[in-house]
Amino acid sequence: MHVSLIKPQGFCSGVTKAVSIAKQAKKEHPNENVYILGMLAHNQTLIDDLTKEGLITLSDENEIKALEKLQKGDVVIFTAHGHSEKVEQKAKDLGLIIYDATCFKVKSNLEKIKEEINAGHQVIYIGQKGHKETNAALSVSNNVSLYDTKLLINYYLITDKNPYVINQTTLNFQELNKLHEDILSHIPGARIENEICAATRLRQEAVGKIERDTDLIIIVGHQKSSNSNRLFEIASNLFHNATVIMVNDLDELKKHDIEAKKKAAVVSGASTPQYVVDEIYKYLLSK
Ligand code: SF4
Repeated sequence: MHVSLIKPQGFCSGVTKAVSIAKQAKKEHPNENVYILGMLAHNQTLIDDLTKEGLITLSDENEIKALEKLQKGDVVIFTAHGHSEKVEQKAKDLGLIIYDATCFKVKSNLEKIKEEINAGHQVIYIGQKGHKETNAALSVSNNVSLYDTKLLINYYLITDKNPYVINQTTLNFQELNKLHEDILSHIPGARIENEICAATRLRQEAVGKIERDTDLIIIVGHQKSSNSNRLFEIASNLFHNATVIMVNDLDELKKHDIEAKKKAAVVSGASTPQYVVDEIYKYLLSK
């Protein structure tokens, strides 16, 4: 089988930093319990690897309740996707030692939202309902309205003629452009920022450049990973004659029948460890 590795590969800079902060936390606190409040980044292999290094990943379905189970002096790491101020305050009140692994890009977006709110503007946040990054953005103020990518926004809630429009970092950039047009058609004075991060945009552009006679496209990423899911959607929309699959690791890939395929492209999500992609690459080359 002919196999191409589609670049960029492996962790984005935000995930690289988050992993390094998590490892540093454990190094500095070898005798304490070191917890991560949810998946550090959305990849199960990464979480399993961190577990082997002694880090404990908590369920983040109810972050406040998860924190309440910890003891004063425990260490808690906030994940790459951001967290609400309420969660941070709770961790402080409980006397936990905090490490913040929030990606710089997510942080910078949260700062922009705060500035706009403080200046008296309404904010329209385009994102996925329930995603941690979205929750963090919405937690800034009741004046932040969600425009879910799958649902519509309640425009009657926006009374500001010049609302600020910002988005989750890992959306599909083509879909985002359409949502921007929709907003401008309702609110011509809306001030629009495109805040898809470079790691997401470059991966999406790279999928668009995959050779058209490719008959197998493998997105290596976890089903909870927003950027991996967007890569899967884009590849599925562009390559109707190819088999497009998303797998977390080599074991998952082995469940698929790919024997008859001749030309494969391997795409990496931004939170996928490089060695997982390399294992898949070698396996495909042996076919
Ligand atoms: S995908 Fe983008 S926003 Fe998410 S961690 Fe990576 S650089 Fe940060």
